[in-house]
Amino acid sequence: MDYKSEMAALRQTLNEAGYRYYVLDDPTMSDYDYDHMLRRLEELEAEHPEEITPDSPTQRVGGAALESFQQVEHPVPLESLQDVFSPEEVDDFAQRMGEALGDVQYSVEPKVDGLSVALEYRDGVFLRGATRGDGRVGEDVTENLRTVQSIPMVLPDKLPRLIVRGEVFMPKNVFHKLNRQREENGEALFANPRNAAAGSLRQLDPKICAKRLLDIRVFNLQLAEGRTFSTHGETIDYLKSQGFQTIPHKVLREAAEVNAEIVRLGDSREELPFDMDGAVVKVDNLSDRAVVGSTAKCPRWAIAYKYPPERKPSRVTDIVVQVGRTGVLTPKVVVEPVRLAGTTVTNATLHNQDFIDEKDIRIGDTVVLQKAGEIIPEVVEVLKDLRPEGTVPYHLPAVCPVCGAPVERDLDGAAVRCTGAECPAQLHRNLTHFASRDAMDIDGMGPAVMRQLIDAGLVKTAADLYFLTEQDLAGLERMGKKSAQNAVDAIAASRERGLERLLYALGIRQVGEKAGKVLAAHFRTFDALAQAGLEELTAIGDVGPTTAAYIREWVASPQSQHLIRRLKEAGVSMEAVQQPAGERFRGMTFVLTGTLSRFKRDEATALIEAQGGKASGSVSKKTTYVVAGENAGSKLRKANELSIPVLTEDQFAAMLAGEEPGDRPPEEKPPEDGQLRFDQF
Ligand code: AMP
Repeated sequence: MDYKSEMAALRQTLNEAGYRYYVLDDPTMSDYDYDHMLRRLEELEAEHPEEITPDSPTQRVGGAALESFQQVEHPVPLESLQDVFSPEEVDDFAQRMGEALGDVQYSVEPKVDGLSVALEYRDGVFLRGATRGDGRVGEDVTENLRTVQSIPMVLPDKLPRLIVRGEVFMPKNVFHKLNRQREENGEALFANPRNAAAGSLRQLDPKICAKRLLDIRVFNLQLAEGRTFSTHGETIDYLKSQGFQTIPHKVLREAAEVNAEIVRLGDSREELPFDMDGAVVKVDNLSDRAVVGSTAKCPRWAIAYKYPPERKPSRVTDIVVQVGRTGVLTPKVVVEPVRLAGTTVTNATLHNQDFIDEKDIRIGDTVVLQKAGEIIPEVVEVLKDLRPEGTVPYHLPAVCPVCGAPVERDLDGAAVRCTGAECPAQLHRNLTHFASRDAMDIDGMGPAVMRQLIDAGLVKTAADLYFLTEQDLAGLERMGKKSAQNAVDAIAASRERGLERLLYALGIRQVGEKAGKVLAAHFRTFDALAQAGLEELTAIGDVGPTTAAYIREWVASPQSQHLIRRLKEAGVSMEAVQQPAGERFRGMTFVLTGTLSRFKRDEATALIEAQGGKASGSVSKKTTYVVAGENAGSKLRKANELSIPVLTEDQFAAMLAGEEPGDRPPEEKPPEDGQLRFDQF
């Protein structure tokens, strides 16, 4: 077989298998075979890129990232729906339609809680996909939509133009998995599948969207050039025949049947792979729709029924407290198991002490529960009439239930936190922060490795990292000998990051990168900082009374003192690297060359001397830096010959201001032959 036929055959087999898997949910090929064939197709496409077709399954993995989304005008507007909230309103709707149209049939279908998109095909090939936007103009998210496997790239019929409308969603199981992973990595969680889908579809990098495994259900034919249909049901059957996954619908005549179907759909929501935020009732006959028409925003021929959030009472058997990664104590009620909106609920968050006080929730109470955003159970109210005798108001514990350290309420909020620096609940987050790039910058010590180290009992404080051996690390999963060696080296190298970064890495509340620098510049050593009182701290610009109080508190705690002692033992530098003002250039020799635009020569010389440095007229091995302005000549060449680092004027100015040369990216246009060498120090 020649390569063209082989590629065509592979595409066809893979697309057929994809359709069976993603659209019909009836796989016919093993993952192993699929991956194997896909690899073969990728190889052939790499050899013959001119043969890549738009329907190739390889085009679904996400191409190059975009800078922004283009706007797209919808030829047929993407309308909204009129909401109704009761069976009576459904009856009213049916009556209105009956009066206008006589005998009417209705299509009743689930309302998928996702994002509306329009998909446009030309001559049977997927051309473009756009979000709803304001209904008339949306955003072009074609590349992201290509990664949605259940969207066909090529249709069997080659109509000149076809536009369909569908709802993109993140399947519930994918959502739960994604959030578990995000939690594991210490990332912010998505509130619900809808937000997760929206966030994914608006990624500028389609590769990220591809990983989110979005799905779609198509529910409307917006435009089909060259075909006519008489009912909604017919259009949906047609779309099915073209390979789309459609929203299931039932065609019914009577308002009572419609209401019964709405109830049935509501009860079946648990079995659906998507979240449902209502039921949609539509007039089925397309010419009937044209007769009643639309208002400015919504069609008159359809309504969206919104289910009231289900509420159920249950008895509080206990109140337990969890400690999150940030040390916040979160109280939860444990309730007798109760079935609510599709799942069995056994507990609900109580947020914080203020929430408990406001509702006066006690162990033994009967509370009414509902699911916020259909997902997280919450307490709506306490049924005080049912309160048994002898209950007492609930107060959060005074010590952390995980480590026993005292707890403390935030100075600026309702959260209560554990103060224990070694609290296992906080340890993972603290360690990951300690090693992160802007803190101690320990390469290869990410969240997954930290988790393993904690689980293996090898690390209980950040200081323990410095006592790890190659053998300790090599024993971890997925850690080879070489990576263990690299990790030990990276940990050792981080000893010299200096007080600036160390202060930030310690995770003292409100001490970020900037405060770390300011404090280090002022105190120079950790011990000097530790002795400073509130007054001295607040006298420093940029340090407010709350930050000062947090610093004092941190420094005074026995756990922190132990940590600092151990870090010192490990040889971690407790001194500022940045030279203090007036001494930044001590021991350095500068040579100025070319025309400087920001400083006059003698000004620059004075500034160098004011920082304890020397300015010299000629380049030698002893020169620390050459500062090169416009048209720099022989001195710059000499610097290059001797491998003396060259600074632009801006970089020189930044150094004067106390920044390290490496803090700034090199200039876009380096002088002369571009031999800037900041990467070397
Ligand atoms: P709303 O945004 O509340 O006005 O609701 C209208 C939205 O519901 C539409 O923009 C669609 O994106 C979405 N929707 C979900 N499922 C359906 C469905 N089966 N029929 C019509 N619209 C639907």
